[in-house]
Amino acid sequence: MITSPVLIAIVTVTLFIILIIKKRKEYLERELDREVELEVDGILAEFAASPCTSLIEVAGYDSSRYMPTDSVIQFDSDVVLREVWESDLNILDDTGKIQYWIEQGDPSNKTPSSPPATIERFHHISFSLLTEKQGRARCGACNQTYEAAELVYTKFKSLSIGWNYDCIECPNGHLISRGNRLHIYGTRDSE
Ligand SMILES: [Zn+2]
Repeated sequence: MITSPVLIAIVTVTLFIILIIKKRKEYLERELDREVELEVDGILAEFAASPCTSLIEVAGYDSSRYMPTDSVIQFDSDVVLREVWESDLNILDDTGKIQYWIEQGDPSNKTPSSPPATIERFHHISFSLLTEKQGRARCGACNQTYEAAELVYTKFKSLSIGWNYDCIECPNGHLISRGNRLHIYGTRDSE
């Protein structure tokens, strides 16, 4: 005879997990619903049109110039998903949308995929992951691919007035990404 307490425990845990997933899905859908300007249907259609695969590919980003760099960065999608899970869901850095996009994707597909245009701020998570030595980058200047651990992370050297940025460069000193800004208030011409 099957020991019923064990069976009850398994059923309870399973139901609990289903409930958590359902609640989280509802939360994400509500989060998406609050997004200004774009409608949920539009976002989901965009996600469906460019589904996430096992490999996410993005351009490096220079936050000081609001422009991409000529480097190409790749992350395993499960690494990004873990990073998103560990961070608080935040509309400002698009983590809710990133999570939804990855979860709706096809991890069996090994072709690189790029985040749809509605995910505008992937560069925040991209910079964090590189500083955590996750992923790899192809430097456009040396045309070489480096593991994140080989890249050089430089914290801003001086606290100058205005915006200060941390840099990630290839071993030959070419810019891969610039981010993590800190603003110093003051006037430049005061002596
Ligand atoms: Zn380089």
